[in-house]
Amino acid sequence: MRIIDSHVHVLNNYAPMEPFADMGRVDRLLHQMDSAGVEMAIMLPVVADFSPDNNEECAEWARQYPDRLATMTDVPLHETQSAELVIKAKEKYQAVGISYYPNTQDISWMLKKEYNQLWEAFSKTELICNLQVTPANHATLVTLAKQYSSVNFLCNHLGLPGGFDKDYPNYNFLRPVNQLKNVFIKASAFYAAAQKPWDPRCEQALEYFTEILRIFGPGRILWGTDWPPASNHLTYRQALDIVRIFSTDIGEEELTRILGKNAADLFNI
Ligand SMILES: [Zn+2]
Repeated sequence: MRIIDSHVHVLNNYAPMEPFADMGRVDRLLHQMDSAGVEMAIMLPVVADFSPDNNEECAEWARQYPDRLATMTDVPLHETQSAELVIKAKEKYQAVGISYYPNTQDISWMLKKEYNQLWEAFSKTELICNLQVTPANHATLVTLAKQYSSVNFLCNHLGLPGGFDKDYPNYNFLRPVNQLKNVFIKASAFYAAAQKPWDPRCEQALEYFTEILRIFGPGRILWGTDWPPASNHLTYRQALDIVRIFSTDIGEEELTRILGKNAADLFNI
């Protein structure tokens, strides 16, 4: 079975992880992947004051380890030249997707006419649009995906259910995606959805996974760890075993898809 980790960060100085700021070194990741039997990982660059060149660095590691690593490029989609940056990401960094962490609570601006060009760039490059979306923005994501059906959208971390507030209590606004073939979700960062983040069998996190399975089906879920932040809570292998071993009512065929085949097909790797 091919196992592909759809969400890792690789950087030599991950300042928020002090005093383990160098936890995210590439040699450490490759070691963890080897010992858990993970063939490939998708890197999501962290472009921040402490790592301003991480798009370039991740592209370089993907070139250095083409059988083990592929990269996305972090693009500030809200900026006016974002369409150009998407096109450039494919040419310059050989990105397999674009990662974006919105700078606003509300992402409905993405639906505005002035962003048409941006979605055309996604459509043209066939790059995956990877978004950090909380339940407050699930409805907007569904509208976006309907409006731009030629773009594939991928949501981080079970749709961030742990971040919900009482106005957006669960996955209700995400339910229409079962009709949409272009929305995918990662079964990743279980610690963020867990009542007991140190417990790989945490029932709350596993229930969210079961619910995601019900909504998306086994063909549109991609397993991932969110390493190295995940390592504050669980070992790399435990982050894999949540899905591989601890989630019940999931068959071998479904597991093969979720642990690797879906990512291989989506990213063409
Ligand atoms: Zn992450």
